Amino acid sequence: MKTVVNKNDLVEITIEDIGSDGAGIGKYQGYTLFVKDTAVGDRAVVKVMKTGKSYGFARMVELVKPSKYRVEPRCPIATKCGGCQLQHMDYAKQLEYKENKVRNCLTRIGGFCDIQMEPICGMEEPYYYRNKSQFPVGKRKDGGAAIGFYAGRTHAIIDTEHCYIGAKVNVDILKFMRTFIEQYHIEPYEEETHQGLLRHILTRVGYQTGEVMVCLVVNGRDIPHKEELVKGLQAIPGMKSICLNVNRSKTNVILGETIVPLWGETYITDYIGDIAYRISPLSFFQVNPVQTKKLYDIALQYADLHGDEVVWDLYCGIGTISLFLAQKAKMVYGVEIIPQAIEDAKRNAQINNIKNAKFFVGAAEEVLPAKYKEENIHADVIVVDPPRKGCAQSLLDTILKMTPKKVVYVSCDPATLARDLKYLCEKDYKLVKVRAVDQFSHSVHVETVVLIEKNTIVEIQ
Ligand code: SAH
Repeated sequence: MKTVVNKNDLVEITIEDIGSDGAGIGKYQGYTLFVKDTAVGDRAVVKVMKTGKSYGFARMVELVKPSKYRVEPRCPIATKCGGCQLQHMDYAKQLEYKENKVRNCLTRIGGFCDIQMEPICGMEEPYYYRNKSQFPVGKRKDGGAAIGFYAGRTHAIIDTEHCYIGAKVNVDILKFMRTFIEQYHIEPYEEETHQGLLRHILTRVGYQTGEVMVCLVVNGRDIPHKEELVKGLQAIPGMKSICLNVNRSKTNVILGETIVPLWGETYITDYIGDIAYRISPLSFFQVNPVQTKKLYDIALQYADLHGDEVVWDLYCGIGTISLFLAQKAKMVYGVEIIPQAIEDAKRNAQINNIKNAKFFVGAAEEVLPAKYKEENIHADVIVVDPPRKGCAQSLLDTILKMTPKKVVYVSCDPATLARDLKYLCEKDYKLVKVRAVDQFSHSVHVETVVLIEKNTIVEIQ
């Protein structure tokens, strides 16, 4: 196959755009090259690594002229670690990139034109925002423990002491854990041989309450020198929960099912707005609580509830959106596929003394059609917050049959969002409002909240 460039060629290009996975896009004699860790406007010499028929991949070898949107990443391992893809890009430019990503999907996939997007809701402090961190532990070549993050696309552990998007308290936790592991010769886990004890260090932090949890994932049922471990961790401000998670499987799933308490509770509490949530090591909880509050406020504003509405919240997780909306609705019904999440949702309703929320376990695309068929249920507003693959068509068909006045779609993938909206809006709905929310600065991910409304037929006299 003949292409303009060949593997190992060095060419100079200007980066003109950023692709959906964060790589810069430039052209050499009309041939498209994707280059990681570049920003729009960079002029760079790149080395071609792989070529295909219509595009190829290259690596930057020399930055000839940096883009005006380029900034020095705070994190020294930003380009190696798989966690952040955009730390070298000015935050305002990151937001523009995300907003464009949503707009492009709605136009290209959804076929919508003249979309009036509300300005993207960015973060005031785009660092230290994650309330949950999972640090893999492994063996370094010299035998010591590597604690850090996986490199992009591989399971090589990049040692780190300070993650700039995790909670600040992690720095103290990691420092103590390193000393503890070395002092007491705790064996790091080795993935290839399935030997060794300590697999991951999981931390969770309540941003409103300041409560801290450390959960050590072990390939065993116990850990030596528990007393010293507890004593050291207890000294960290806010510590509320120290526990083990037993994971003896040869798997890359991080957590096992069993929790062994070592000290304190096996959960921490945090708030989003006025609603308290109990968070255990295994619970799903939104990782950026500050932006989540903004996301839910937008969803609530789009739902425009007055107190007499029946709302269905599909893909409800631990009921976070349901309970938020229940404050303003007559009744909220939540549907979620994971039974433990529904247990959490029910308990969260109880803790907050919320009586007008009811939860069902099951696939949204099965529960809603069945309830509609058997009980002829009604909804004034339907909220969906599906995983990346979006909603099943059978669910969208049921929504169309139920004819709610409003559908609020919360999405973590603009491409499937656009596909689903196209389906609904080709029938009886119209796109009313769109707002992107940045929940994950320095990554390529973007959340979107969309309001669609039922078309009203105006009779002409
Ligand atoms: N709305 C929640 C969770 C959203 S994440 C929040 O804001 O916290 C998406 C959720 O959809 C996950 O909890 C996942 O377990 C659930 N899920 C995935 N497939 C599903 C399906 N087919 N039916 C119902 N829930 C599903």
